[in-house]
This record gives sequence, C-alpha cells and structure tokens, in this order.
Amino acid sequence: MVEKERISLCNDKEVKNGEYVLYWMQASQRACFNPALEYACLTANALNKPLIVLFCIMPGYLAASFRHYKFMVEGLQENSDSIRKRGAAFIIKAGEPCEIITELSKNASMIIFDFAYLDFMKAVRKKAAAQSVCRVVQVESNVVVPVAAASSKEEYSAATLRPKINAVVSKYLDYEEEKTEIKNKISDPQIESLTEQQAKEYIQNFKRNNRYFDESSFTGGYSQACQKLEVFIKDKLHNYAGMRNDPTCEVQSDLSPYLHFGQISPVYIAKQIIKTLSESAEEYLEELIVRRELAHNFVMYNEDYARYDSVPVWAKKTLAEHLSDPREYYYSPQQLENAQTHDEYWNSAQNELLLRGKMHNYMRMYWGKKIIEWSETPQKAFEIMVYLNDRYEMDGRDPSGYAGICWCFGKHDRPWSSRRIFGNVRYMNDKGLERKFKIQKYVQRIENLKKGR
Ligand SMILES: Cc1cc2nc3c(=O)[nH]c(=O)nc-3n(C[C@H](O)[C@H](O)[C@H](O)COP(=O)(O)OP(=O)(O)OC[C@H]3O[C@@H](n4cnc5c(N)ncnc54)[C@H](O)[C@@H]3O)c2cc1C
Repeated sequence: MVEKERISLCNDKEVKNGEYVLYWMQASQRACFNPALEYACLTANALNKPLIVLFCIMPGYLAASFRHYKFMVEGLQENSDSIRKRGAAFIIKAGEPCEIITELSKNASMIIFDFAYLDFMKAVRKKAAAQSVCRVVQVESNVVVPVAAASSKEEYSAATLRPKINAVVSKYLDYEEEKTEIKNKISDPQIESLTEQQAKEYIQNFKRNNRYFDESSFTGGYSQACQKLEVFIKDKLHNYAGMRNDPTCEVQSDLSPYLHFGQISPVYIAKQIIKTLSESAEEYLEELIVRRELAHNFVMYNEDYARYDSVPVWAKKTLAEHLSDPREYYYSPQQLENAQTHDEYWNSAQNELLLRGKMHNYMRMYWGKKIIEWSETPQKAFEIMVYLNDRYEMDGRDPSGYAGICWCFGKHDRPWSSRRIFGNVRYMNDKGLERKFKIQKYVQRIENLKKGR
C-alpha cells in the first residue's frame, strides 16, 4: 500500500476510458521500492488498463553535464527490463516532456508523476498536468517521510525538524514493496520509442565540458547502487560514526549520486541499515533521513533556495557588516573552477570534484567557506558555488546541494563568535584540517587520481 500522504492531485480532470495508464518516470529512476511506480501499477489494474512507463531525455536540463546524462542512461536498461517483466511497457523519448506528455495524454486514462522539489521540474509538472486531458496524480517517492507530513513550514534547523520526523518515521519505514504485476499486459504499445542503445548514442552528441571532466568515477544504475550499499554495510558502516568526517578515510556510502537520480530508494537504504544493528546506524540515519529531509524541507518552503536571498537575515546582516574587511586573496570563477588557488587543500577538494565527480562531505564545507573568503561579495560566492556544484557534482542540482551551500552562509546553523569577513557566520581554516586529519594523505590521494587520468 502506498501511504496516502505521498499522493496528491495535479489537476482536476476526470479519469478517462483511455487505452492505458501512463507513468512518467523522472525523479525516481528505479523499478524497485518506487511508490510512484507501485501506485501506477495499482491504478492500471484497478482500471483494467495496460501501463506505459515513459522516460524522457531532456537536453539542456539545468546545468547538467555529459557526465550526468551518461550516469542517467546507464540505469535505463535495468529499469526497462524490470518494468517489462512486470507486464508494463517502457518507452524512451528525447525532447520536452510537457509536449510528449500532452500528446500521450490524449489516449491515457490517467497519468502518474513522481514528485519534484526544484522549481524547474515543478513548473514542467504543472504545465504538463494543465495541458493533459485526463487526471494527473503525483506520488512523493524520494524521501522517507513526505515533506508536508513532517512539517508544514520551513524548519529552522535539524534540531527543530528531528522530533517531527522521529514522531512519524516508523510508519514510513514499515513500507514493504509489493511489486504488483500488471494484469492487462502489454508488450508493444505501438508508440515510437528510442531503444536503450539509441538513448546512449543520443547523449553522445551532447556538448562536452572538456577532455578531463567528461566522465566521473561513478557508473549509474540500480545494481550499482545496491553494490555500493552492500560494500558500505560490510566494510565501512562500523567506522561511519567515528570517521565519516575525515577526508582521508573513505567511509562514506557514496550513495548520493544514486539518491539524486532516484536510482535507489532512501526507504530501502534505511531498512537495510537498520537490519545491521550497527552502532553507527543511528549516525547514518541522521544524515540519510534528518539532514537530507531538512534539505527537502528547505527547498519546498523557501522559493529562493538557489539564491543568496535564502540566507538567514542574521547571517546576511553580519556578512554585510564585514563586506569591507580586507581579503588576502581574491579568485575569479575561472581560477576556482580550474583549482588554481594558493591553498593545496582547497585545490585538492576542487580536483576531487572535477575528476571524481564527488567531493568528500567535510571538504565541501571547507570548499564553500573558502569561496566566501576569496570572493568580492557573499552574493558572488553563492553564485559560483551553485555553478560549480551543479555542473560537476554527480549529486548536484539537488535539495541537499542548495541546503549545503546555504549552510556555508549560516543556514541551519547558529551564530558563532565574530571573525574577519565572516562576522558571526561559522568560519573554517586550513589549520583545522591539519589539526584534525592527516590532510596530506588526502592531497596525495587526489594527486594520484590526477595522475591516473
Ligand atoms: C557546500 C556543500 C554542498 C553540498 N552539495 C550536495 C549536493 O549537491 N548533493 C548532495 O546530495 N549533497 C550535498 N551536500 C551534502 C553532503 O556533503 C553529501 O550529501 C554527502 O557528502 C554525500 O556523500 P555520501 O552519499 O557518501 O554521504 P554519506 O555520508 O554516506 O551519507 C548518506 C546520505 O545522507 C545524506 N547526507 C549526508 N550528509 C548530508 C548533508 N550534510 N546534508 C544533506 N544530506 C546529507 C545524503 O543523501 C547521503 O547520500 C553538500 C554539502 C555542502 C556543505
């Protein structure tokens, strides 16, 4: 059963006696533990219609690079195989989803969307639902606790959201996948579609960034995500609580790219982690559920999430008061992008982003704080951080990215004692990295990564 809090209406059109039920798979690119797909299967069976699952490749999606498209299409074959096994059709189209959905709605009984949090994709869903001639319903499938079920307002911090999540989370962790089979099976829907191979060829024509950064070290797909989870549980979880902040230890799960593309479910991950009874499980669930869903709360209730305007008033005030503090270094966006600063730790972090497609969490904080220190204004720092994060992080263009960037400016944090440039916003420096970690080990690892390219 899909929990009712996940389901909402997108238009006021009638359910039609059409030829099929359509599920547009966009945010939840997986066939397992996907409440939107489950709801689509149940709807198709209730209406005694076949189910068509549509996947659209949108050229020019936000700041997505070739590496993101590549990761995305790597997951397609597995999804289409699983969906076809359940008796539904899987079609792939290239182009503007609104137009494609509007056209397909003419023969549909009902349409199901998965849920979007970012403006751009919310707008696409709104327009597609308005133009469709049948009922459209959306299902929130990429969080453990649906955002509105946890809180009806923008939360101040993890401390204010945590008790609200904890009060209801067990209900959502009880979810068991049913893998409903489609009764009215369909093998060929007679709708033009790219094959998975053609989808791979299609994205080869997309603009590349440059010769180094075409690819990341991640391969997309559900099995890849499950493999990462398995390795994490077996080899890393026991050290997670004590070592997750240390950039010289590789104890993070590396699941964020898969979560970002919806290639694995946070509910599934949480259930697997809970089963381990590991002492680190609580710390991991704090990140996966409380921190991640705080980020979703932020983008859902703060329309300025990708702009400096979303920074808290106290932080904007203190940063403005320190605007004329002398800065020892200024770097242009190009110097930052090319990792050309005086700070070898920062350069290593930026190179990790460029080469690997994923920067260590602790270095992301340091990276952001230094960009504030080396930019003419906090506004410019915010812009360059969004640009680099969205363009190169495999998990970029995500609620956690905008919340993480805003955190560097004081969001979800508290005022600290006053410092040059930062005022009361928390400050970080290289001495801290040297004191806490064998940071040269990190520098060396990234150097080796560079040599390997
Ligand atoms: C400046 C900055 C930018 C960031 N940009 C992104 C981004 O674009 N996309 C992104 O997913 N995360 C971002 N984060 C948050 C965090 O760094 C990553 O989620 C984490 O490093 C992902 O690696 P992992 O999956 O190995 O994490 P793990 O430590 O294994 O954590 C498991 C999961 O918990 C969630 N999580 C962990 N830490 C955080 C956090 N601080 N905030 C929210 N969720 C968290 C993620 O979904 C992660 O996959 C950013 C943080 C900062 C400070």
